[in-house]
Order: sequence, then C-alpha cells, then structure tokens
Amino acid sequence: MKVGIVGAGMVGSAAGYALALTGHASHVVLVDRNAALAQAQAEDIAHAVPFASACVVEAGDYPALAGAGVVILAAGVAQQPGETRLELLGRNAEVFAEVVAAVRSAAPDAILLIASNPVDVMTQAATRMSGLPPGRVIGSGTILDTARFRSLLARHLGIAPQSVHALVLGEHGDSEVLAWSTARAGSVPIGAFADQMGRPLTEAARAAIDEGVRRAAYRIIAGKGATWYGIGAGLARIVRAIAADQRDVLTVSMLTPEVLGVRDVALSLPRVVGAAGVLADLHPELTAEESEGLAASARLLKDSATSLGF
Ligand code: ADP
Repeated sequence: MKVGIVGAGMVGSAAGYALALTGHASHVVLVDRNAALAQAQAEDIAHAVPFASACVVEAGDYPALAGAGVVILAAGVAQQPGETRLELLGRNAEVFAEVVAAVRSAAPDAILLIASNPVDVMTQAATRMSGLPPGRVIGSGTILDTARFRSLLARHLGIAPQSVHALVLGEHGDSEVLAWSTARAGSVPIGAFADQMGRPLTEAARAAIDEGVRRAAYRIIAGKGATWYGIGAGLARIVRAIAADQRDVLTVSMLTPEVLGVRDVALSLPRVVGAAGVLADLHPELTAEESEGLAASARLLKDSATSLGF
C-alpha cells in the first residue's frame, strides 16, 4: 500500500522509517512545508531500505500523495514561550485546516491517520474538516500507552506481552484510564494469574506500573526533548492492520457518537481496524471508578474540542 506522511519531523520520519523497515507499506511519500527536510528524511530512510524491504521512499508535494491508501498527519507547530495550551491548539488546528484540505484533494480515498498532538482533539478537528465518516479518520490515541501497559504487566509476570490483554482508554494524556479490571493473561484475570505465577500484583506493583505507563512520555521528553520511535512503530502497526485488512483490535482514537453520556467526542476505545478503517467500537465492562475516570476524560476532551469549535 502507498502511504503518505505529511510532516517529516521526528514523528513523521520515525513512522516512515518503521514502515520502510517492516515493509508494511510498499511506497512511502513524505510531504513537509520544509521541502528540503522532507527530501533529506526520505533519502536517509531510503538508505535503510536495502537492508530490510523493497519499499520505495520519496519526498514530494501534495500531488505525489495520489493513490495513497493511508495518509499519516504528523504536521504541527511547537509551543512558543508563554503560549497557552489552547493557543497552541488553535495554531495546530490552523495547520490542519490547510493540510486536511490539500490531502483530501490529492488523495480523496485515503484513510487519515492522525499523529499530531493533542491527538484526540486533532482527530476530532480532522474529522470535522474532512467531512469523512469518523471510521476513516483514526488517531493513534492510546495505542502506545496500551502497548506499554501490556509490556510492563508482562515483565512483572515474566511472560510475553502478546499473552497479556490490557487496555488504556480515553485521552492520550493525563486523564487516560488504565482498565485494570479487564486485564487478562491467557484468559485468566490478571490478579489471579499473578498469584498463580507467584508474582502477586501488590498495591505497590500496580502503582509502579501505573506510573510507568502514565509518566513514560514525561520521562522521555526530560531526557531527549520529544518522543518518536515508539509512536513511529505504533503508526506502522495501525497501517499494517489497514493494509492487510487484519481486523485487529487496537486502542485508537476516533470521533465516537457517545461515550458514557458524552456525545460526539474523539478518544480511545478498543476498536476493530481493517481495510475500511474502524469497523466496530468496543465498550469494555468497567468498574464504577474506571467508568467515572473514562467519563471525566471524555468530558475534558469534549470541552477542548468545543472551545476550538469542533
Ligand atoms: P514532531 O516531534 O511532532 O514530529 P516536529 O516539529 O519535529 O514535531 O515536526 C513537525 C513537522 O511539521 C515539521 O517538520 C514542520 O515543518 C511540519 N509542518 C508544520 N506546518 C506544516 C504545514 N502547514 N504543512 C506541512 N508540514 C508542516
């Protein structure tokens, strides 16, 4: 599948690199307002391809996106000193208004995959701007938080992350909800599994895992300024589900008709992802406390989107 990437900064280029190395895309086109940057990133990534796959990687302007099955939107502007979060959001929404229109006219059949932060609000904005059905505008959402939750649980239990099913729901950000009550390993509830393995999930162990998931981005930003490898691989994972019509259950963001009484809000739930985009939404059974957390997350996101007019 041909995949376009608009925004060839750290996140966009990491996604291109992951797509090229995994071979989940046959053709990657990088577009950026800074054409020299897009060109340099494409050339650098193309040099990795002979070691891994047969992917064609190039830079171009919007017309080069023609025929793309997925276009990843990773464009954005950085926060200025003294700028509020809402002002930054407004400026990023302006970038998206321009980018979404250009992508829609160049690649009208493409599914949009939103990576720019705050990803849930940007997904809501891109859905409204594009006029596409919500299932064709997918935000990376909590795909990374869920992967981290599974891997930290797996490490505690001493098993493979693939054998752990656990979800992070709601906002990709501070209000996200780790759905402990639904977590399973090998179909056994996670607490019972941990006891059987002789590695109980004590309050302290749970708190450490919660902190490990919730504070991961802060730690990485403190050390290297931004995050890109994890999200790049997560975006490639979503492309794989679409390109191969895999119908994977992934926690991704999408404009959802109703979440616990909050109408028309983009946030992450487990969803079935295939060639047509999101095929179904799943609403896990949660405890009262988890439900309240998810409802609060939904209200917060809805307020942000509403304040921007989306
Ligand atoms: P991140 O870490 O989120 O990838 P970067 O600042 O590294 O952030 O990358 C964002 C990229 O988005 C930059 O390369 C910037 O040139 C690009 N960009 C910003 N505005 C636009 C726009 N209107 N059209 C295309 N690309 C844009």
